[in-house]
Amino acid sequence: MKIRLYNSLNNRVEDFEPINPGKVLMYSCGPTVYDFAHIGNFRSFLGADLLRRFLEVAGYDVIHGMNITDVGHMTEDDGSGEDKMVVAAKRIKEDKKSGKVPEGSVDNPDDPYQIAKYYTQAFLDDSTTLGLKVAHEYPERMFHATEHIQEMQELIQKLIDRNHAYVSDDGVVYFHVESFNRYGNLSGNTIDQLRSGQGGRVSEEDQASKRAPEDFLLWKPDPSHIMKWDSPWGEGYPGWHIECSAMARTRLGSDVIDIHTGGEDLIFPHHECEIAQSCGASGEEHFARFWVHTRFLLVEGKKMSKSEGNFYTARDVLEGRVTGRPVHPAVLRYELIKTHYRSNLNFTVKGLGDSAQAVTKLTDFLNKANEASKGQVGEVGNDHPIVSQFLEALADDVNISAALAVVLPWISKSPEDPAEALGVLHKIDGVLGILGLAEKGVQQGDSSDSSDFDAEAACRELDQARADKDYDRADALRQQIIDAGYDVQTGKDGTTAKKKLA
Ligand code: AMP
Ligand code: ZN
Repeated sequence: MKIRLYNSLNNRVEDFEPINPGKVLMYSCGPTVYDFAHIGNFRSFLGADLLRRFLEVAGYDVIHGMNITDVGHMTEDDGSGEDKMVVAAKRIKEDKKSGKVPEGSVDNPDDPYQIAKYYTQAFLDDSTTLGLKVAHEYPERMFHATEHIQEMQELIQKLIDRNHAYVSDDGVVYFHVESFNRYGNLSGNTIDQLRSGQGGRVSEEDQASKRAPEDFLLWKPDPSHIMKWDSPWGEGYPGWHIECSAMARTRLGSDVIDIHTGGEDLIFPHHECEIAQSCGASGEEHFARFWVHTRFLLVEGKKMSKSEGNFYTARDVLEGRVTGRPVHPAVLRYELIKTHYRSNLNFTVKGLGDSAQAVTKLTDFLNKANEASKGQVGEVGNDHPIVSQFLEALADDVNISAALAVVLPWISKSPEDPAEALGVLHKIDGVLGILGLAEKGVQQGDSSDSSDFDAEAACRELDQARADKDYDRADALRQQIIDAGYDVQTGKDGTTAKKKLA
């Protein structure tokens, strides 16, 4: 199968072949752990997860790593502003008062390691809930920035030795952008453009000690900083970009990797700077052969932002703070992966409802096939007509819409050969990652349902009311069951209620 991927480096779809046949080295920029991850973050992470799972089902051995940014970076890229850990400490103090952060979770909010630990665990929990595979592989492939300070320092030293970096008069270490003539190839932000102010991310006062305004921070000596480490350039902290270059190289074991992913906002300056650092140190032409960027998630057509009041963490959605009732993790995963990664995903309440229907269809089909095959699962290869159409669609730059357009009509019919159908589903779900999550709640009612509403008893009562021809009472009971979050159906064997997934 020929795999084609859009490469942001060249702005075109290209044939994908890994450097080492059969093995893909892949790195995704991960979360900053100063807060809970939001649904936009998860769109990017799950987009990478989908690509990774597809490559695995297509037959590759995928080594997928992701960083956890637990170093207290500044709110501004040039080292100015406030440290994000300090911002988080203030918020946690408030959240402790209101009970949002449970007692005992962060004993001392002024300790940045406690803050990072709290949000790292929350991220790993949310990721597991949403089926992000790399998080299951923790700890080997989730790389903590604070555990790689030494590797960052070695890389910085190498850049100094190779004349790509310098120590300024005030002791700060900068990458000298002019020393790397491919700077701007990824984002189009060339030095000329930056100097004419288009990418201007440098405040006047911070430029004083730099050789050029576009130079970016590698190490900042600052013994008063909330998180600091010893270094040859004084006690201080690393710049934001250096962590990914250092960890990708040391933890994936190669100067050149196959795929690097992140959200579209990371193209500049983060990924542009990662390339300059990695290639500057290695002398290689590429850091990553393919750069894959996910377009942003919007909420009901608008940019997601706290000021708009439409800013949602994954937990907000799952726990019912967005739709007024809990959303099953399989539904949120489906919603976040169902749109092609190079289109904006418009997250809507209606879309969640559609995703819930699709997940229900998938699980109903699975249950029917399971029942009919009595547990037999057929051996199915990638050349099975449904599987191959599904994979071929994904091979075209992860065209998930086309892939789902293969699956959804197929599951609308009853399976002809249930064992074979189970084999196909198994393959397909290796990529989608929906059924494993769905099975956790759908069959035994919903695990997130904490109310003591007895739907089964209400159905029997409803049937009795119908038998007694007390239709007012039957209608009232039906409404009660619907209000408790169930779909209600009355058939020849009586009434059944199924918990809604969203
Ligand atoms: P952060 O924790 O802010 O560094 O972001 C983690 C990842 O989420 C990065 O790859 C970002 O590009 C991505 N990201 C942030 N906001 C959104 C959004 N609204 N839609 C999609 N991806 C996003
Ligand atoms: Zn990164």
